[in-house]
Amino acid sequence: SVDVLTIDGPSGSGKGTISRRVAARLGWHYLDSGALYRGVGVAASWADLDLADPAALVRCAFDTRIGFEDRADGELRVIVNGLDATDELRTETAGAAASAIAAVPEVRSALKDRQRAFRRPPGLVADGRDMGTVIFPDARYKVFLTASPEERAERRYKQLKDKGVSVILDDLLREILARDARDANRAVAPLRPADDAVCIDTTGLGIDAVVERVLALVPA
Ligand code: C5P
Repeated sequence: SVDVLTIDGPSGSGKGTISRRVAARLGWHYLDSGALYRGVGVAASWADLDLADPAALVRCAFDTRIGFEDRADGELRVIVNGLDATDELRTETAGAAASAIAAVPEVRSALKDRQRAFRRPPGLVADGRDMGTVIFPDARYKVFLTASPEERAERRYKQLKDKGVSVILDDLLREILARDARDANRAVAPLRPADDAVCIDTTGLGIDAVVERVLALVPA
């Protein structure tokens, strides 16, 4: 079957950037599974849904159209129900909404087939929290990226500052720790490395170094 490389890890571990670059280098497809959860999260908030109503959230997960568009400038835009929601999806509010709906088991199952459909020749790089454990347990290559919470907060801080968003580093650190705890302690698909994943601690490593380490796992 088609080769899959799963890249899981907590927020700020560099998964997104690393996964996109690795996919480009391999010429493989790329799945940003977090964008699906974020997309359903914002669609639920646009529709003013009750986050405590699992049936409504599941319907929303099935009904929300989420598309990806590669722009000429190399940016990946995310289209939710026909609207370019890329910028809104990046906000901490959207992250928190995603994390809340992602804790509902039926929402996770509703998104399963959609994620698996990204597995197409010549291969797939799948970025998320449970790619190696739940969605693609039979993936040939599995990576788990980590970095200290302080470094992850600092990366987010720089990212946001570059975009002209002013934030307080301590607030980001607190948000990251809270989201980590929620993602690690939830009953369904808690964040943990697959038994057969290669763990890479990216604290103090540059993007290029991590990309090379990941690519070294995949024979040319
Ligand atoms: O990776 P990203 O930060 O975009 O994910 C946003 C949230 O979506 C995560 O905090 C997590 O709660 C949820 N998520 C998940 N499973 C995935 C991807 C994301 O539960 N595969």
